[in-house]
Amino acid sequence: MSLGEREDIKQQVALACRMLEAAGLIDFSGHISARDPEEGIWIHPIDKPRNQVAAEDLVRVSLEGNVLEGTARKPSETPIHTEIYRMRPDVGSVAHLHPPITTALSIAGVEFLPVIQHGALFADGVPVLDDSRHVNTPERGARLAEVLGSHRAAIIRGHGAVVVGKTVVDCFMACVYLEDNARQLWRALAVGQPRPITAEEASDGVRSYGATSAKKVWDYYRIRLGL
Ligand SMILES: [Zn+2]
Repeated sequence: MSLGEREDIKQQVALACRMLEAAGLIDFSGHISARDPEEGIWIHPIDKPRNQVAAEDLVRVSLEGNVLEGTARKPSETPIHTEIYRMRPDVGSVAHLHPPITTALSIAGVEFLPVIQHGALFADGVPVLDDSRHVNTPERGARLAEVLGSHRAAIIRGHGAVVVGKTVVDCFMACVYLEDNARQLWRALAVGQPRPITAEEASDGVRSYGATSAKKVWDYYRIRLGL
């Protein structure tokens, strides 16, 4: 691993945090993290306003929850991240969001159906953790990771969501698509019976939304938000 690689990951996590806040997907809480190339994960501190997070604020935390680098306090819900990384070797980035529409649908008990092309990422289902409490212990984190299974996202009823990706940029795209799909599902519910995309449409969609799409979403938000 080069020092540059680690620095790039930290820059991406900090930028993604500010962009998620500006996009309305996290507020004063919520977080995004990335796996360190050598050991542990990078995550921002518990108390830093999400619209001010910089790379130098981040802390490196082991998958056992010990701070390896940095002096700030890790978020109380760090077990969301560490337990998902432990269970999912394919995952390089995890976000914990408080997305308003996705969360509202979970409160109403509406099943998260993929209804737009971007929703193809979630065509294999978005499981729900039926417990709104903070995921602030390794046991609760492991339970959430189990609910998530091999899926791209899971919803915590009445609280928020977790989204995973191969990279920070890939994770950010899925965060945006999750709430976009929820918004269209909610609008469709207001006027009729939502019709999900077909399995064939979904499998085409999954193939389309790789690194190029992720970079396009990332650059769009970065420029739009002036970050
Ligand atoms: Zn939370």
